[in-house]
Amino acid sequence: MTQLESACKGIITPQMKIAARREGASAETVRKEVAAGRAVIAANIRHKSLLPVVIGRRFGCKINANLGNSGFSTHGGEIKKLRLAVKWGADAVMDLSTGGDLRKLRRAFVRRSPVPVGTVPVYEAMLRAGTVENITPELLLQVIREHAEDGVDFMTVHAGILRKHIPFAKTRVMGIVSRGGAILAKWMNHHRSENPLYTHFADICRIFREYDVTFSLGDALRPGCLADACDRAQYAELETLGELVAVSRKSGAQAMVEGPGHVPLDQIAGTVKKALRVCHDAPFYVLGPLVTDIAAGYDHINAAIGAAQAALHGASFLCYVTPKEHVGFPDCEDVRQGIMALRTAAHAADIARGLEGARRRDDEMSKARYAMDWKRQFALVLDPGRAREYRFQTITETVSEHCAMCGPKFCSVKNSREACGR
Ligand code: SF4
Repeated sequence: MTQLESACKGIITPQMKIAARREGASAETVRKEVAAGRAVIAANIRHKSLLPVVIGRRFGCKINANLGNSGFSTHGGEIKKLRLAVKWGADAVMDLSTGGDLRKLRRAFVRRSPVPVGTVPVYEAMLRAGTVENITPELLLQVIREHAEDGVDFMTVHAGILRKHIPFAKTRVMGIVSRGGAILAKWMNHHRSENPLYTHFADICRIFREYDVTFSLGDALRPGCLADACDRAQYAELETLGELVAVSRKSGAQAMVEGPGHVPLDQIAGTVKKALRVCHDAPFYVLGPLVTDIAAGYDHINAAIGAAQAALHGASFLCYVTPKEHVGFPDCEDVRQGIMALRTAAHAADIARGLEGARRRDDEMSKARYAMDWKRQFALVLDPGRAREYRFQTITETVSEHCAMCGPKFCSVKNSREACGR
């Protein structure tokens, strides 16, 4: 039985118990949320090194780090990024490889990763076929099965884009920016056929059920710029995604839904609420979203602004964006910055939506700051290594209470402690 099937039968699985303990919630709460489809535990039965985690609105907001070899990296380089991404607090990783030995890297990711691993099988189908036109439904199903057999916990499946949606993208500024979406649109136009991931969705559900793979229903028509946000193309596909959520649940497979992309700050709340309504409250997984189109080089900050707003209004899974988004291939430092920016957004949203215990660490931090207890501060911050590095960059003596920001005479904490007598 899948996690969903067990939950619906009232069974609390070992994965639910572990996920609940990590969340500080009861196992019964996790079971109920999974049974209702409001949460997922992406845990392929073949992923033996996994420490299960629950993704859903009732729990702490989670973040994903996109990794993988695009031909500008090496197997070893991506394995190093995986290790660091986990160290820096990614709750999940996606292997988006489009270069190198895909299966070797995917298997290595699953073997070494304690967090759920996601993939986008259409990339591999494209590489094997050589051209978009040569992709066949049988090849897509074969690749999906292999990813499932390899222990992948969740897969992006762009089954929501249909032939009738393609004309809506023609009037857009940026057209179709999803790599998988553009491949499928081209395939549908060439073969004058419906999206094979849609027509073979029942077959995919059977594979997913067999290995307990979770759907990440891809938003092939996600807006790629502010001008295209919340348009007819995006919402037409969303309706199909809602339909597919219902089909996957009925088959016993878990599902979450992917979202934009690029959305003006004032439209994020509305688009998240609409997605939750149309997609039967399935966990909503957003890429950022970016709130401006002109922050290249700083898109991790751009994404964090949108992500905090999205999470506040119901998104439960945030895909990080690195400073290299739109302009280059991220290195380890970019991965670090992307993760820390999105962890900050997720945590800010957890506090703002009143998640029990979310603020405890912040309040402890405030006390440690006032007590000038640097050791405690470093234990509480999201990135102790970076905080320590900055703290001792200018003032190297470990005994000094103040830091280099204000200096000893102007350190307001020091002066306040003397003035207030505590
Ligand atoms: S020097 Fe300024 S920034 Fe540093 S601890 Fe004191 S008040 Fe805070």
